[in-house]
Amino acid sequence: MNVIEFCSDLIKCKSVTPNDDGAIEYLAHFLSSIGFETKVLTFSSADNSNTIKNLFAKYGCSDEKVLGFIGHSDVVPAGNNWDVDPFAAVQNNGFLIGRGVADMKGGIAAFCCAIAKFVQRPFFGTIEFFITGDEEVGSYEGIQSLIKWAVENNHIPHDCLIGEPSSDSQLGDRIYLGHRGSLNVMVKSRGKQGHSAYPANYKNSLANLCKYVAKISDYKLKYENKKFPQTNLEVTMLFTDNCAMNVVPELSSANLNIRFGDDYTSEILKTVIEQEAKEFNELAFDFYPSGEAYYCDDERLKNILSESIKEIVGISPSFSAAGGTSDGRFMIKHCNVIEFGVRDATIHQKNEKVKIEDLQNLEKIYLAFLEKYFQ
Ligand SMILES: [Zn+2]
Repeated sequence: MNVIEFCSDLIKCKSVTPNDDGAIEYLAHFLSSIGFETKVLTFSSADNSNTIKNLFAKYGCSDEKVLGFIGHSDVVPAGNNWDVDPFAAVQNNGFLIGRGVADMKGGIAAFCCAIAKFVQRPFFGTIEFFITGDEEVGSYEGIQSLIKWAVENNHIPHDCLIGEPSSDSQLGDRIYLGHRGSLNVMVKSRGKQGHSAYPANYKNSLANLCKYVAKISDYKLKYENKKFPQTNLEVTMLFTDNCAMNVVPELSSANLNIRFGDDYTSEILKTVIEQEAKEFNELAFDFYPSGEAYYCDDERLKNILSESIKEIVGISPSFSAAGGTSDGRFMIKHCNVIEFGVRDATIHQKNEKVKIEDLQNLEKIYLAFLEKYFQ
């Protein structure tokens, strides 16, 4: 199978999260055609409002070395103003263009094509696929449910490669060994509504909130573990339900997003957020942690992946824990995780694209990695 055709077929499935549009079945069909045992697993939320199709696939004989591959077949909505049809997999000027080509159908296609070549020869070990359908919307009925199922059914690998886009300015220049954690905070401020001409009669919830937001934005967050970027707190939304200029609002709220290295956990950050609010009246907080920071420094994985990259594209990659979160934050509780894929320059943008040559080289890098891993 040719990696460009494979990736194009996947792009043509309009798997805009949480829809699947045949992507999971396409992968299941391909993997069973090359000898994998496949299981399409559908998980539903407790209230049945959300149902997600996922794929587990397994090939191999020995449990001594078990390598997992994690990927998601869902993509974010295309948005507007594309120069081409985002689901037609158009090739132009050496690029393959389409929603999801970088995030992350290209990585899945490259790994599948590498595997198809790799399993033609005997090897000692087992390969497992964890392909999910809701990574772009929280991973609840995707990797979180799939890992739970894998634990119960004894299918947790020793090491996992995630095929998310990790490269920066050229293919092979960056491997993710971890990611920062992420905590969303909603700050709610309650005052007393009134006419702005009568200060004695109101308490301004918005002014109170703004003072707190200004203070917490300036809070000096510590920075000790330099493997991570500096922990960063951003104000992402300010809201007050007020349509008249002379009404002082009773209720106001703000959203904060904090990306943190392992100098912090979401529990420690909660304490900081609340302590800094002590001098302000009537503030309340809701916390929505979406993942803790992690870093996986497994020497063997790092070395064989770096060597494979060097061999194919002649670059020595850097190791990073920047970027957004990935499904690695759930698998890291069970096994080693390493993340490597195409460039991330156009992900979630219009005209998302990947160099055709990069997809071909990524397949070669994955194949070299497989050969070294199972040596
Ligand atoms: Zn992704």
